[in-house]
Amino acid sequence: MNLMFLIPKTMQAVVYRGANDLRLETVPVPRIGPDELLVRVAVCGVCPTDIKKIQYGTVPPPRIFGHETAGTIVRAGSRVRQFRTGERVALHHHVPCLECHACRHHAFAQCAQYKRTGITAGFEPAGGGYAEYVRVMPFVLPGVVRIPARNTFLEGAMLEPVNTVLKAVKRLALQRDDTVLVAGQGPIGLMFTRLLALQGMRVLATDLLDTRLKIAKEFGAAEVCCLKSETRNPPSEVAGRLHGPRKTEGNPKSEARKPKAGITRDASRITLPAPRSTLHASRSTLHAPPPPILAGLVKRLTRARGLDAAVIAVPSDAVVREAQALVRGAGQVLLFSHTRRGDQTSLDLATVCVDEKDLIGSYSADFRLQAEVARLVFSRKLDARRLITHQFPLAQTAAAIELASHPSAESLKVVVVQSA
Ligand SMILES: [Zn+2]
Ligand SMILES: [Zn+2]
Repeated sequence: MNLMFLIPKTMQAVVYRGANDLRLETVPVPRIGPDELLVRVAVCGVCPTDIKKIQYGTVPPPRIFGHETAGTIVRAGSRVRQFRTGERVALHHHVPCLECHACRHHAFAQCAQYKRTGITAGFEPAGGGYAEYVRVMPFVLPGVVRIPARNTFLEGAMLEPVNTVLKAVKRLALQRDDTVLVAGQGPIGLMFTRLLALQGMRVLATDLLDTRLKIAKEFGAAEVCCLKSETRNPPSEVAGRLHGPRKTEGNPKSEARKPKAGITRDASRITLPAPRSTLHASRSTLHAPPPPILAGLVKRLTRARGLDAAVIAVPSDAVVREAQALVRGAGQVLLFSHTRRGDQTSLDLATVCVDEKDLIGSYSADFRLQAEVARLVFSRKLDARRLITHQFPLAQTAAAIELASHPSAESLKVVVVQSA
């Protein structure tokens, strides 16, 4: 039976009005067509790709961002048969056509339909999760997943990021008991650690923070290596490797945090801190040797053979070169965090040609993996709850983005929550 929901005419939404300019505004609740859904947002994760667009202003305003969304269907178009109101769902904002040239080559992230965002809270579609309601368009309905009764909206909102990680894992040509380095144990790195461990790989996890390495151990890392004492990199590079923390915040609880940037009810302009240039600015020499402690560990773990693969979950070029040195001949180095266009680095190309070390990348999700991702998250084999450390109300979305872009020692996944 379809439940009836009272839907207001207007709603609150966090509108992107330009680089570093987010405003809490009153906007119309989206209208839906006969083949569409209206979903009341419960949880939306803060994703680094949105942070980049907001901070660097890489796309024209106005938009309402937020694409890691879970919520309740409050209205279903007259022609929608497969869903009904009242159902708790996780959304997927990109779905490939499965028919075009790119899709036939399984390059779904390059499909023209896939590049279209199918969820909006108004303006140019951009996900819309930082609003009270979103409109779900027909071509992304195949990506909607029901959340089981025992699971939370928080878990539902984690399906999209987990999917991007599982897609990347599947790009690696691994065999059981292979040794894989996961560089960086932020939320994404920890998902890699867990998924690779579940597939029977020996994971070597590195980070600058012991707090994160402790969770990496819980998530199944065979070995962890804390690189904070390594001094061969300049400080800015070390900060970049950490994928975050410049300083440690005292209290990780969102309520107790004094946001440096906030949004006011009167929709006044707020300014987010400038993006940190250190993340991408560092350029070290072509032949930067790996940290000795890490090189020693890889030697011992692989009987001097070298890593089978390395996943780079930090936007550091030096870490890429180190990994290229640490993988065995015909091993793979996978880039997951180098998302900024225009970045260039030097690399010994003979390591690719002569040593057959593949340098590969992975971006976005694979729609076909959605069922497997849902099983992993909802069974809690990958316990996504462990990764969510901070919850902010919608009005404090800017503070959520600020924390996610400058993580503290305790912070991992940051989410905006309207109802748990
Ligand atoms: Zn995302
Ligand atoms: Zn396609």
